[in-house]
Amino acid sequence: MPTPARPLPEPFRIKMVEPIHLCAPEHRRRALEAAGWNLFLLDADDVYIDLLTDSGTGAMSDRQWAGLMLGDESYAGSRNFIHLRDTVRELFGYPYTIPAHQGRGAEQILFPELVARVRGRRPDVQPVFISNFHFDTTKAHVEMAGASAINVLTPRAIDTATAYPWKGNFDLDALQAAIGRHGPQAVAGIVATLTCNSAGGQPVAMDNLAAVHAIARQHGIPVVLDVARYAENAWFIRERDPAWRGATIGEIVKKMFSYGDMFTMSAKKDGLVNIGGLCCFRDDVDLFRAVQARCVLMEGFVTYGGLAGRDMEAMAIGLRESLQQDYLDYRIAQVAYLGERLQQQGIPIQTPTGGHAVFVDARRMLPHIAPHRFPAHSLAVALYLEGGVRAVEIGSLLLGRNPKTGEQEPASMELLRLTIPRRTYTNSHMDYVADVFSSLRRMAAQLPGYEFEWEPPVLRHFTARLKPVIAAPASAPAAQEEEAAPV
Ligand SMILES: *Cc1c(COP(=O)(O)O)cnc(C)c1O
Repeated sequence: MPTPARPLPEPFRIKMVEPIHLCAPEHRRRALEAAGWNLFLLDADDVYIDLLTDSGTGAMSDRQWAGLMLGDESYAGSRNFIHLRDTVRELFGYPYTIPAHQGRGAEQILFPELVARVRGRRPDVQPVFISNFHFDTTKAHVEMAGASAINVLTPRAIDTATAYPWKGNFDLDALQAAIGRHGPQAVAGIVATLTCNSAGGQPVAMDNLAAVHAIARQHGIPVVLDVARYAENAWFIRERDPAWRGATIGEIVKKMFSYGDMFTMSAKKDGLVNIGGLCCFRDDVDLFRAVQARCVLMEGFVTYGGLAGRDMEAMAIGLRESLQQDYLDYRIAQVAYLGERLQQQGIPIQTPTGGHAVFVDARRMLPHIAPHRFPAHSLAVALYLEGGVRAVEIGSLLLGRNPKTGEQEPASMELLRLTIPRRTYTNSHMDYVADVFSSLRRMAAQLPGYEFEWEPPVLRHFTARLKPVIAAPASAPAAQEEEAAPV
């Protein structure tokens, strides 16, 4: 891809500032020890640059803030709900909208209904969902609903060193094989995650999505789009697929959504809001009604779904803002900029960089740490201690244990995600992060692995308490190999 001769700066100016502060190294070490070496358990004030997630951490525009003042807090039929529903219909082509408090709110009201449909026709089979890659809460909700989650991501995603434009794609042969193995009647849904968060914010190609849709149709399986980053996926299609070069982002988004029957969305990402989600349907009115009934119970009445009227107004505005070409050009260029700065220093990253984050390949950077000692978590700890920067592990710690055997299996990739909030940090902040990495590269061989002090049963990475494991030198007796010691 050609880089423009003159990179454009941020397409906004700053109207309000939020001070951030780098606390002292000893303070950071004490804070992390008290947090059980889990960065999720830190006080945010102890973090300088927070790249934990791009979820709900972006900056709203002046128009969105103005929208907050237009909140209609009626219990039922709020005008902000109507604005939101009409926006969804116009941008995505789905007439039936249920708001939810965030993406997992949408998942918890949808998946049990899809599983119930399988049980209704085939009580004798284990329901499954097949996805390019289930996001972690998505997998947890699939399993909570009593189904199994199968991932059929293209194997090209795992080779972080080789650039491939569509690392979020489904492996179509593996998809067909999985449907054949379980039988189409057992497949509760095919979940297309756009972009593919767990593979590095990597895009799914339009023709791949079309093929997934065709396979699903052939077997009578519904397609669920998981579209937290719909706008970023569309940007990549416009950039990398010659067939779409002249199209607007809005046109590409419309087409992408035409390949789904329903979607769940965390609006905390491309929706550009701090809280909010959606669960929407194209034409399955029975399912829509069943999910609405569940919404009343779990999220709130069907025209607010756990949100204030003002939140729905901000979402309606944000859904549209993220389709702006100059915003997306800047957004994805900033991610690429951090990626380039890291590569210049020889840091191994997932290439090409994706839409919302730079993923450092911790298996290649810390080859001395075994998967069950969580190399990417080790790197996350070091990044915080060294520079006050918070990032997140996407690897074996996040993956969790095999639900059937209780075994810790190695994840296919051990990645450290440097997630960039939308419209929040400037490239000076990215330069600082890159500089911290140059120190980490020098200390990499000394960084320890981690083990659990306390391990929760589900979504363990959020609340687990860990401790470093110091390996003895290679010549030491095996019995002393994993003596724990503070570092
Ligand atoms: C964030 C996310 C979710 C869950 O959404 P929340 O708003 O965090 O509950 C689901 N799927 C994908 C792909 C996501 O990125």
